[in-house]
Amino acid sequence: MDNIKSNLLDIKENIEKACNKVNRNPDDVTLVAVTKTIDVDAMKMANQLNICEFGENRVQELIKKYDFFEKNIKWHVIGHLQSNKVKYIINKVVLIHSVDSISLAKEIDKRAKQKDTVQDVLIEINVANEETKYGLKEKEAIPFAKSLEELANVRIRGLMTVAPYVFDGEENRLHFRKMKGLFEELKSVGNSNVDARYLSMGMTNDYQVAIEEGSNMVRIGTALFGHRN
Ligand SMILES: *Cc1c(COP(=O)(O)O)cnc(C)c1O
Repeated sequence: MDNIKSNLLDIKENIEKACNKVNRNPDDVTLVAVTKTIDVDAMKMANQLNICEFGENRVQELIKKYDFFEKNIKWHVIGHLQSNKVKYIINKVVLIHSVDSISLAKEIDKRAKQKDTVQDVLIEINVANEETKYGLKEKEAIPFAKSLEELANVRIRGLMTVAPYVFDGEENRLHFRKMKGLFEELKSVGNSNVDARYLSMGMTNDYQVAIEEGSNMVRIGTALFGHRN
């Protein structure tokens, strides 16, 4: 885990390079450190290096780790979320990346209302129509966003995708480009609970390409912490 520091330097350098290519400011790209299966000690090391946004894909794991950290950590739910787990995370997580059904959105709205808060969420898109992946189809995204209008305690902050697993991130470029187009469309949806700011895409194998195509939130695990067990 001594590598976290040098891994982070590499990642930052790559983010900067990708931004330079397309004239963007690296400060506009949020790094979410994906901490699934990573132990609290390694996460503390990351935190000491000023990483303060953690992404978990399982609610149970997030809740278990939550109390080990100060309130300055921003927790993200990035994995598939079951409705019956929503009640555990409201007021704990800044962003739920994986909203892909009306029933889930309604449950988030209900639980957020009970706690007198508004939950920020992203709509997950299955951009390559993969059988094994969660998320809405590209063409469902905007109608879905519009259909959530009456959910006053849910705020739609953007889109997320898990692109196909590839060795060369270049292979995902057109998927990312498609997502960026959809993101711009979402921004122009006039509903009061839509305030699209985040385009969450790009992982270890493809984050540079994702950034070149407009991602402003990358979710990186392996490149930071090494291979998971
Ligand atoms: C595991 C995971 C990541 C990070 O993947 P790496 O390839 O290890 O960077 C990002 N997003 C989601 C939804 C994940 O489950």
